Amino acid sequence: MGVVHEIKEAVRGMKSLLVGLKITGREFVRPEVTVHYPRKVVENEHLVTFRGHIELVGAKNDPATPRCITCLMCQSVCPSGCIKIVKQPPPKKDPAKEAAAPPKAYASGLEPKTSAKPPAKEKPVKTPKGFILDYNLCSLCGLCVQACPVDSLRFSTDIYLADYSKKSFVFDLMARLKAQAAEAAAAAPTPEKAQPEKGQEEE
Ligand code: SF4
Ligand code: SF4
Repeated sequence: MGVVHEIKEAVRGMKSLLVGLKITGREFVRPEVTVHYPRKVVENEHLVTFRGHIELVGAKNDPATPRCITCLMCQSVCPSGCIKIVKQPPPKKDPAKEAAAPPKAYASGLEPKTSAKPPAKEKPVKTPKGFILDYNLCSLCGLCVQACPVDSLRFSTDIYLADYSKKSFVFDLMARLKAQAAEAAAAAPTPEKAQPEKGQEEE
């Protein structure tokens, strides 16, 4: 009885060992899904799946200017109060244009006393004057990105930020966008850079 029990225990132990080795072997050959930070960092192509702090997206024809139309949706929807947008001041009134304007009766729809048309109103600038993000408060919830009606916000790929001061995490996103646009313009190939060298032409 004693020997049979010992054999049964040995078989059970062997079975358990084999199950454990099978799991270890499977995990050993499976592709890595995490990185051993700080020895390794996430490759650029995979950064899109991470959430860095939010950043502004530039307009197609002017990458240094955000698509933002200052609707303030992101600021209102943010549960942590991280976003502070400064609107552009209203356009200044031109006294010369005002003097040339027809009487108020024209504007109110009554018969004009003069054939002069009212001066065209200056359109208010929709681009914000300032766009500040306090990343210390941000929970990366993404509500601001979802709320933006013109896709002017996205998550950046800055995922390795570290500093001793909280001030370092208050970002001027307008300045950041300008710097990014200047960097991209400097890196873009110019006609001179794109021209093949003399030796290459002859080959
Ligand atoms: S991701 Fe969330 S917490 Fe962060 S700024 Fe946007 S709305 Fe606020
Ligand atoms: S929601 Fe979009 S368009 Fe509106 S203020 Fe924010 S970034 Fe600008």
